Amino acid sequence: MKKSLLVIDIEKEKDKFKKCIEILKNGGTVVFPTETVYGLGANALNEKAVKKIFLAKNRPQDNPLIIHIHSLEMLDMVAKDFPFYTINLFKRFSPGPLTIILPKKDSIPPIVSAGLNTVAIRIPSNYIAKKLLEETKLPIAAPSANRSGKPSPTSFEMAVEEMNGRVDAIINGGNCEIGIESTVIKAEFNKITILRP
Ligand code: AMP
Ligand code: MG
Repeated sequence: MKKSLLVIDIEKEKDKFKKCIEILKNGGTVVFPTETVYGLGANALNEKAVKKIFLAKNRPQDNPLIIHIHSLEMLDMVAKDFPFYTINLFKRFSPGPLTIILPKKDSIPPIVSAGLNTVAIRIPSNYIAKKLLEETKLPIAAPSANRSGKPSPTSFEMAVEEMNGRVDAIINGGNCEIGIESTVIKAEFNKITILRP
């Protein structure tokens, strides 16, 4: 792959940011900041696009991805038959670093969830992540933007070092506010399990 499009300042480079939205809509890959770590995103509804994430990361296909959505309005696009308390959990902890595992909607290709019938969902608070999600109107599958076995990038420089030339674009959002991965919980009707603190 040729060098990635680097977006240094989304306010001063509005055209480049628009290009990132087009890339995502057209099945490409974009690295973007979130409040936890930088994510490597692609359209979660597009199997070919999601495959590119696994290739860029060298990630084994049995490791499922987190889907990012911009608000609760999008929840029905990705999950189904979720426990009644799910909405309250999201309202209390989102947008923010909480990922909830819920039953997967059939329209999400199996590659996203590594064949599981559940899917991981998060509503990020980082304003660049939010803007991307709002403007694409897509659920975006995005694991951390590192090659497998490397630490998760928490700065633009780290993200470029890991992913330049392996993805279509990389957006600068400075240093990640939190700097560690989200908490992952599984929400079932009779219990909640913490899978990642
Ligand atoms: P990463 O995005 O690289 O921080 O990793 C996402 C984390 O969420 C990994 O630890 C996955 O194993 C976990 N995860 C994603 N989807 C599921 C799922 N359906 N069930 C259980 N864990 C999941
Ligand atoms: Mg990771």
